[in-house]
Amino acid sequence: MENKVYLTRDEVPRQWYNIVADLKTPVKPPLGPDGKPIGPEQLAAVFPMNIIEQEVCQDRWIDIPEEVLEILYRWRPTPLRRATYLEQHLKTPARIYYKDESVSPAGSHKPNTAVPQAWYNKQFGIKRLTTETGAGQWGSALAFACNLVGLECKIFMVRVSFDQKPFRKTLMRIWGGNCVASPSNETQAGRAILKEFPNTPGSLGIAISEAIEQAVGDKTGQTRYSLGSVLNHVMLHQTIIGLESKKQLEKFGEKMPDIVIGCAGGGSNFAGISFPFVCDKIHGKKIDIIATEPKACPTMTRGAYHYDHGDIAGLTPLLAMYTLGHKFIPEPIHAGGLRYHGMAPLVSHVICDGLVTPRAYDQLTCFEAAETFAKTEGFVCAPETSHAIAGAIDEAVKAREEGKKKVILFNYSGHGLLDLMGYEKFLNGELKNYELPQAKLDESLDQILHFPEVK
Ligand SMILES: *Cc1c(COP(=O)(O)O)cnc(C)c1O
Repeated sequence: MENKVYLTRDEVPRQWYNIVADLKTPVKPPLGPDGKPIGPEQLAAVFPMNIIEQEVCQDRWIDIPEEVLEILYRWRPTPLRRATYLEQHLKTPARIYYKDESVSPAGSHKPNTAVPQAWYNKQFGIKRLTTETGAGQWGSALAFACNLVGLECKIFMVRVSFDQKPFRKTLMRIWGGNCVASPSNETQAGRAILKEFPNTPGSLGIAISEAIEQAVGDKTGQTRYSLGSVLNHVMLHQTIIGLESKKQLEKFGEKMPDIVIGCAGGGSNFAGISFPFVCDKIHGKKIDIIATEPKACPTMTRGAYHYDHGDIAGLTPLLAMYTLGHKFIPEPIHAGGLRYHGMAPLVSHVICDGLVTPRAYDQLTCFEAAETFAKTEGFVCAPETSHAIAGAIDEAVKAREEGKKKVILFNYSGHGLLDLMGYEKFLNGELKNYELPQAKLDESLDQILHFPEVK
């Protein structure tokens, strides 16, 4: 029995899928400080116009530029694997498939958008990109992409990950990126936080403020900012994951998955695997689509669907999203890429429309799932990815209890070979669960009540 399926180069999708074209309810536009929808020109200091056009595009299919494809072919198509050994271990009648995005040079799905973003910026005449990174996955992906297309890359890395994951920094340096711990002394936003909270573990919201401030502050106009998740164009670039998976499932002889699962930090790998199937669901197919997140940062399961900023300093437009409040600083769990207070507006939209179901897991359940996966399938996943595996295991066990031969597809968003510190602590019994106290959540949400509600 085949346990992995590739595609030929010709079969790799040549267009991205834009879910905006299929949504039954109108998308909620980003708002400016005055509460009015912002126009493309208001984003021009932050992003190049060719990316802004993509951000607001309504076309269903968008061509992937030939030169971008040429770079993606270095590791795409990624394999779709069947988790036969995990199935046997769980004694489940379910067939479990996982899309292995860990085979990219940076070890995750992130280069799928880093490459087009760097390429579009280069086309637009930009010389330098700034960005934030949590666990370091995005920073390393962007450093990799900038190196290939010829851009400088400056990365603000969340302090706790900077200390927990020193080798991600090394990767960024190998590819020519310049990485500093955030909050840093280089920006007003960073200095303000350090003054108030000198020992802060940092957050993605803080790092985003620093990166935007530096991009906008370059008076030569040659610097722009790049975001690794959350925005529409990032979701778009990641749909190559789900589009490939569809063709590969067919080669396995499957018609449709019954269940699609991805972990969600800002929402991009989840959107990537799921949006092509959300399209099928919109058009009448019966599929359970599940987004998993940590209980320590329960944006989708306990957050408010509300307009909010994407960063702590309030530099981004107001986005319609599930949020814990832009000043929320999550506990330092090891799934650094899932420590974000907000959720992509498009992912939030499909949750609100009832097309996607969110679910939260605690840290120990996830590490246990990762350990089970490593002992059966062999691969050691990123702590973020373990949230998708926990979801897949739960669904496979449910299928066993119900005696149903369900087809489960999940996204294996990245490997964990640079996250061994977290595993070491888990194996030593030093990790604990964090449940977000309601009082802390309420306090954080109180700060966004003056922003518009999402209707
Ligand atoms: C960044 C990251 C995530 C979370 O980001 P999304 O935008 O939600 O995909 C998940 N898994 C891995 C391996 C990551 O690097």
